[in-house]
Amino acid sequence: MTPTTFTTDEAHPREVARPGHYDACLPIVEDDDFLEQAVQSAELPALLAALALANADPSLLADELRPPLPPMDSVIAPQGGMSTEAQKSARRVAANALKAFRDRGSVPAAQPSEESLAHIMRFLTKDASDDYLPLLRHELGIPNDYGAPAWKKSEVAPDIDFSVAIIGAGISGMAAAHRLQQAGIEYVVFEKNTEVGGTWWENVYPGCRLDTPNFAYSYSFAQKADWPQQFSTRDEIETYLQDVATTFDLRPNVEFGTEVTSLSFDDDSGTWTVTTETADGIRGIRRVNAVITAVGQLNRPNIPQIPGLDSFAGRCFHSSQWDTSVDLSGLRVAVVGTGASAYQIVPSIAGTVQHLSVFQRNAPWMLPTPGYLADIPAGMAWLLRHVPHYGRWYRFWQFWIAAEGRLPFVEADPDWTEEGSTSANNAELRRQLLTHLSRQLEGHPDLLEKMTPKYPPGAKRMLRDNGMWATTLMQSHVDLVTDGIEAVTPAGIRTVDGVLHEVDVIVFATGFRASDYLEPITITGRGGKDLHESWGGDARAYMGITVPSFPNLFMLMGPNTGVVVNGSALYMAECAAEYTVECLGELLRARKQNIEPHAEAMDEFCDRVDAGNRLRTWGVADVHTWYRNRFGRATQVWPFSLLEFYQLTRTPDLSAFDLTGDFR
Ligand code: NAP
Repeated sequence: MTPTTFTTDEAHPREVARPGHYDACLPIVEDDDFLEQAVQSAELPALLAALALANADPSLLADELRPPLPPMDSVIAPQGGMSTEAQKSARRVAANALKAFRDRGSVPAAQPSEESLAHIMRFLTKDASDDYLPLLRHELGIPNDYGAPAWKKSEVAPDIDFSVAIIGAGISGMAAAHRLQQAGIEYVVFEKNTEVGGTWWENVYPGCRLDTPNFAYSYSFAQKADWPQQFSTRDEIETYLQDVATTFDLRPNVEFGTEVTSLSFDDDSGTWTVTTETADGIRGIRRVNAVITAVGQLNRPNIPQIPGLDSFAGRCFHSSQWDTSVDLSGLRVAVVGTGASAYQIVPSIAGTVQHLSVFQRNAPWMLPTPGYLADIPAGMAWLLRHVPHYGRWYRFWQFWIAAEGRLPFVEADPDWTEEGSTSANNAELRRQLLTHLSRQLEGHPDLLEKMTPKYPPGAKRMLRDNGMWATTLMQSHVDLVTDGIEAVTPAGIRTVDGVLHEVDVIVFATGFRASDYLEPITITGRGGKDLHESWGGDARAYMGITVPSFPNLFMLMGPNTGVVVNGSALYMAECAAEYTVECLGELLRARKQNIEPHAEAMDEFCDRVDAGNRLRTWGVADVHTWYRNRFGRATQVWPFSLLEFYQLTRTPDLSAFDLTGDFR
């Protein structure tokens, strides 16, 4: 039932969301015609939500204007699947609301109550169950930063000396640093690079940009309304992350150019010794109470051991170590691999090179994404700058439609026998994607044959398709080579059919050693136990975060916490960072030194996750994928919903842990 007005709450318990340029909101002085024009390019569901809040007017959220998504298809329908008629009405309603907001002096209405906000969320989410509301509030961040700890160390254990080392100042390390800072816990971040940003600092290859929608690929605590594109370039994301580090005052705690080489737990003192090394070989030792690893998952290059590689006379490098000194103009270039990196590199360099050979082992599945490279339309960009919290509602909306949307498509039905798919839903996705591919390759049957994946969609990472991949591969100076690579010679790459593909440059877009968690850091825990030895290449962790015998060691982006079809790494990293801080809070409140999960808790967790992954396409499809390790176990991927990870990471279940050692 639509209320006639919104109510307000008196007090809010947690830190209020940080204002500033993340929520930039300029006064509206434009005339009616301008406003009517601006709403033409708006994402309407989120705009109605923002205006309902700004004007405290629930009538904007009429039933007939509700977006009908999810469920969704391979293509996310524009405007959440609203009918043309509903869109027309929504634009009229939004334009009138904008005028009313302007005429009131562009002053947002008083902060509504949580129930009123919940009403808006239900409008956007087709009445998501109440279970979802805390998660949705966390993502919206109005009026509070719900991921902030509700306690401070100075309140719970002012007299205890406690410090934390974070390894890595990429997206997850920065999330952890911010949460520790909010809790008032002393920390230092060791970053091997000379800047923050992790993967977004390291990858500079041509065409590097996001392949998950940008608004949702941002911190819940640092929301940005002025992304220039839906899938921004790496430069934009790098700038954003650098800006977050500055705005949230994280930089003073980061030691740049400092790589952690080993971690060693001391049983007697219950502390960790962190050994570091700078680029010029200076070693350092630091003793801390806890360690948070935030080293990422996809940054240790996988360079295939191809016979003869050393003999190659030209230049050769991995996509993530792009050699910017090489000018590709007029050169013959080989790109090995057709994953997410190659997909961006190949179209970006095709216009520069003399000849391009793309070596494909398995064709990628591609999700139709017509606006992949498009700028945010001018009207929408204007609205994002002028309508209070529109950026937040838009981020919320993007998050929601991706959240669980595609999970049903990657179900693996144990009784399903049809080749090329793993369930009825998966077969339907396959059909939709093949139709899309065939349309693009009309008149090119050979290319269609080569570009049709033989495995079920979702078993590997799906790419964003705006048509550029097919268009590039159709060009006369571009070859898609599908014969296996046999050897590299001084002149180029020889394939198993005996053909020598002569090239001047080889780019390995061959991915990363994703399952080598925490390599190459030496990590010894209780009783001198070696983490890598105990894992034996098959990483396991309770909640993907903690490991028995390794007290106070917390992993962000740890085993089984990657999401691949329903959300972004940022979300999982934030959840794990918040969980970690809550574990530390438990320790400090109990005045205990160490927290360590029980082996049974980890086994039970991993069994459940393994069973979940066996019901996903990537868990059963017979194809090489970085989601699985060399034993075939899916150690990289979270098979369940985002909601489930959120709920699990709110409050540590202390029955799964031992808390040991006393702080006197
Ligand atoms: P990837 O997805 O693992 O792709 C590696 C490619 O190299 C695959 O096509 C693989 O073939 C091929 N390959 C590997 N070893 C080979 C060999 N010995 N001979 C021939 N081909 C070989 O790696 P990636 O493209 O770097 O992407 C990794 C992940 O990083 C992505 O899945 C994504 O999560 C992330 N990423 C994100 C973005 C973004 O957001 N914009 C961009 C880039 C990467 P097979 O398929 O046969 O294994």
